[in-house]
Amino acid sequence: MSDCIFCKIIDDEIPSSKVYENEQILVFKDIAPKAPVHLLMIPKKHIPSLAEVTADDSDLLGYMLSKVPEIAKTAGLKGFRTIINTGKEGGQIVFHIHIHILGGGGSLPF
Ligand code: 5GP
Ligand code: ZN
Repeated sequence: MSDCIFCKIIDDEIPSSKVYENEQILVFKDIAPKAPVHLLMIPKKHIPSLAEVTADDSDLLGYMLSKVPEIAKTAGLKGFRTIINTGKEGGQIVFHIHIHILGGGGSLPF
């Protein structure tokens, strides 16, 4: 999607601090961290939100969730919080589905 900032991050049109990347997913640091560690995991496929997911996406979504513990462990987290904001009323600002991974002490939001 040409007007999607996360697609632009995938394409390196917008810089980001990437922490993990493979053919299916990208993980990078949130630009405005709400915790000492605040990562965003996105699929390279543009899916606007969890509300737009179809059965065709179940393998991809399952894969993403299965990768979260590995990413969190590599980031030094012993525990973490995952959040998927969905829709404007769900607090979603960027309409490319993403999993927030938060941790590292301090008081977590929400
Ligand atoms: P949402 O509210 O949509 O679930 O979360 C979007 C997140 O993306 C926010 O936490 C925000 O700080 C982050 N974000 C927005 N624009 C950028 C950007 O250009 N680069 C990075 N690294 N994070 C961004
Ligand atoms: Zn996108």
